[in-house]
Amino acid sequence: MSSRDAEISANLQAITARIVSAAESAGRSPEEITLIAVTKTFPVTDVKILYELGVRDFGENRDQEGSVKFSELPGDCNWHFQGQIQSNKLKSIAAWADVIHSIDDISHAKKLSSLVASKEIFVQVSLDNLPGRGGVNPEQLHDFLGEVTALANLNVRGLMAVAPLDEPPLEAFKRLKTLSETVIKTHPNTWEISAGMSNDFEAAISQGATHIRIGSQILGVR
Ligand SMILES: *Cc1c(COP(=O)(O)O)cnc(C)c1O
Repeated sequence: MSSRDAEISANLQAITARIVSAAESAGRSPEEITLIAVTKTFPVTDVKILYELGVRDFGENRDQEGSVKFSELPGDCNWHFQGQIQSNKLKSIAAWADVIHSIDDISHAKKLSSLVASKEIFVQVSLDNLPGRGGVNPEQLHDFLGEVTALANLNVRGLMAVAPLDEPPLEAFKRLKTLSETVIKTHPNTWEISAGMSNDFEAAISQGATHIRIGSQILGVR
């Protein structure tokens, strides 16, 4: 084992243990939670180490980088795109990303639906309403979901969010959980929650996150 192998392996074990204990504290089963290893900016050699350690879900923020890594890893991986979307990159992103977490613009959703036979997506919701950080305004979420779930080729799995910078993540994730519970009433299949990063995933798990996206705690500082 190289020292990088050993480092990543130890980090992954520590994170896995923390996921299990956060799930247990929340009265949830750890199997309900998918760990997405966010490999953005790290070399493909690191992604291959994670693959050898059993990780199959990988998250990337850029089309170019994600498509290269996708082509160098075995076919049994699930690739997640969670970055800001540029309309002219959608076709390329859809070619490698199995799940797109950052849909927050109806024009992107419509275009994506026209490009694919079927694609899994999350709708990103804003927890701080600050411009530039992405996400549908909660007041507009109901209408947005109505439009996006009507698109033939998209399967909306649930809501995605990033914790605000100016508020404790737990409070923000409580609002996300409430939003999710509201959404489920009209869209029962849209129940999953993609939330939680290296510094706040335990709070996200306590509020029902089904997908957590962790980079730096596994691979180190970028
Ligand atoms: C980079 C990124 C992550 C992972 O962040 P870490 O703090 O490194 O765990 C998760 N989600 C999104 C949307 C990101 O951009």
